[in-house]
Amino acid sequence: MIPLVEAVDVSKRFVRDLDYAERLARLFGADLKAQIVHAVDHVDLKIMPGEVVGLVGESGCGKSTLGRVMAGIMKQSDGEVLWQGKARSALDTKAAHAARLSAQMIFQDPMSSLNPRKQVIDIIGEAPVAHGIVPRREKDAYVAALMQRVGLDPSYRQRYPHQFSGGQRQRIGIARALAVKPQFIVCDESVAALDVSIQAQIINLFMELKRDLGLTYLFISHDLGVVKHISDRVAIMYLGRIVESAPADAFFAKPNHPYTVALLEEVPSIAHRRRSFSPIKGEIPSPLSPPSGCHFHLRCPHAFDRCRREAPTLREIAPGHISACHLNDIEAAALQSKIAAI
Ligand code: SF4
Repeated sequence: MIPLVEAVDVSKRFVRDLDYAERLARLFGADLKAQIVHAVDHVDLKIMPGEVVGLVGESGCGKSTLGRVMAGIMKQSDGEVLWQGKARSALDTKAAHAARLSAQMIFQDPMSSLNPRKQVIDIIGEAPVAHGIVPRREKDAYVAALMQRVGLDPSYRQRYPHQFSGGQRQRIGIARALAVKPQFIVCDESVAALDVSIQAQIINLFMELKRDLGLTYLFISHDLGVVKHISDRVAIMYLGRIVESAPADAFFAKPNHPYTVALLEEVPSIAHRRRSFSPIKGEIPSPLSPPSGCHFHLRCPHAFDRCRREAPTLREIAPGHISACHLNDIEAAALQSKIAAI
């Protein structure tokens, strides 16, 4: 089966230019250069049709940037994004336009992603009319049907975003994304700003839409507890790199990477209620100057000399389960010597 969307060796860098004071200081001899942020660093990620991939990591790890690149709203610096097996950059104008409409994003804060000056009927209905998906005379009925589909009262379609609650505004964002008939939706922390009970309702809505419309999701979150409920596969990102990816069952049953284990220990659980809380030590390093070798070595309780020198590569440790940690080489070598000794 061909992946619906695939990142192949994708990197995204941002350049932070010198500000006025820094440029002035450079004129007087200061050794200052524009800084480069490595937001996404040589990432490979396949998403199959109908699959829900949970992309998890701390703030600033590059997961939203990767989501934007895979949705096609941001251009990668290096590498390629394939849409249905074809490089996006090689698609002709018509195919590129269709691919662009087929990939939509739903953002964390619906208040800032919905135009406050527009009525809901225009927020949801403008794009499908502009792209010729529905004739203008059918816009009203089309918007009403979409509002009903996402659990909103269609009689509210003349209202403005501020007249809705946070959960209702997120439903408007979902209806706006659905209006152009997408196949792939990137949900970027789409439930993070909502109360827990509303989060559950929105996650159920995502699952219903996937079942009824055959949607594919990249579900970006910092919360493994939320991702567990929705994902078929989970990928963990740390400082611009994917460090582990596995089918959800295997991932939660037998996590491999020390960073994943640390993240899972932070998920509140009734089973763990008597255990003392042990947050991951330290903060995520700056992507302006990432550490050498394994990016996690400054915080990893198992770090050893090789971790500081050499970046681990992703390798398969079980069918469909990949992880980037030098400890796996030690385990594999120990297994080999045991086999040799038999
Ligand atoms: Fe820890 Fe080393 Fe594995 Fe990185 S490679 S996660 S520092 S043990």
